[in-house]
Amino acid sequence: MSGSVPEEFTAIGVHDFDKWLEPKEFTYKPRPPRPYDVDIKIECCGICGSDIHAANGDWGRPYAPVAVGHEIIGEVVRVGDGVEKLRVGDRVGVGAQCDSCGECIRCSNHHENNCKKNVGTYFGLYEDVGLPTQGGYANYFRANEKFMFKIPDSLESKYAASLMCGGITGFRPLMTAGVKKGTRVGVSGIGGIGHMSILFAKALGAEVTAISRNHKKEELAKQLGADHYIATSDEDFEVKNADSLDVIVNTGSSLTGGNLDKVLQLLVPFGQFISITAPPLNEKMTITPMVLLANNVSVSGSAIGSPADIEYMLKVAAEHDIKPWIEEVPISESNVSTAWKRMEDGDVKFRFVLTDYNKCFK
Ligand code: ZN
Ligand code: ZN
Repeated sequence: MSGSVPEEFTAIGVHDFDKWLEPKEFTYKPRPPRPYDVDIKIECCGICGSDIHAANGDWGRPYAPVAVGHEIIGEVVRVGDGVEKLRVGDRVGVGAQCDSCGECIRCSNHHENNCKKNVGTYFGLYEDVGLPTQGGYANYFRANEKFMFKIPDSLESKYAASLMCGGITGFRPLMTAGVKKGTRVGVSGIGGIGHMSILFAKALGAEVTAISRNHKKEELAKQLGADHYIATSDEDFEVKNADSLDVIVNTGSSLTGGNLDKVLQLLVPFGQFISITAPPLNEKMTITPMVLLANNVSVSGSAIGSPADIEYMLKVAAEHDIKPWIEEVPISESNVSTAWKRMEDGDVKFRFVLTDYNKCFK
């Protein structure tokens, strides 16, 4: 069941982390295919905030050249003999994870996303062959079918792309908290992931409060469907809005400097603060234990989602016609550079999606 797939894949990526804004084309040999591996021809790929952290060296410099991109949509062009759920011609998505050990207690309990041997779609390592992974700024991608997901017909590829990492990341905490009609959900940080949390929370029937540092994003939050808005720069915001939320999804940057103590007071007792941000490793959250105790709130983290979570998220997105706010960018070395620079400057509402792969990779 082999289609024609080149021996080497062509990608655009970082060659020198000191010149990360000058990505260049390169070719690489994908890992030798396993029976359960699937090859896809990429149609489009979202630009995630993680791409910027990885490309600019925030998360270290494990290898170069490296192609980032883990919001991939493509068409299945080859399946191994052991592949069960996918067929040539299927339209599928791949997120931030492309493999896990499949054997540990976490994998056995369907928490593959928390597997200690999880393999990132980029900046990952296939230990069996000693090969690093390359992401979705490329013509083809090869991975374990378990981490590839059929896209429902009603979801357009350009919207589905951003859902594969940003979407599941923003949606999983809502699942954790059992958000349903009437749940009072706060979304802290109105950006790439936060805006998708708002869209999903509204789709689930929640009453949504956008939380931001100042009032600059108030109009945008309303357009996204948020019912209320809290600016943490306002004096006594935690007193005026005390007990107004059942759950807070934190997608915003640093909550250091004592601010978190105040934000936690927005929650009712047994409320949950769930954080999905991945700031540089030297950044710490500061919480006064007495605040946890006095309010009976919990603070937790959430990393992307398991394969089952991703399938459920795509179903919900299709049912509710979730459309992330995106800007399409035809993929090329110079356009990737410009988009990365604009991401770094916060100049996007709210997500870029690289398109026109056929024109770039002839
Ligand atoms: Zn595992
Ligand atoms: Zn991501």
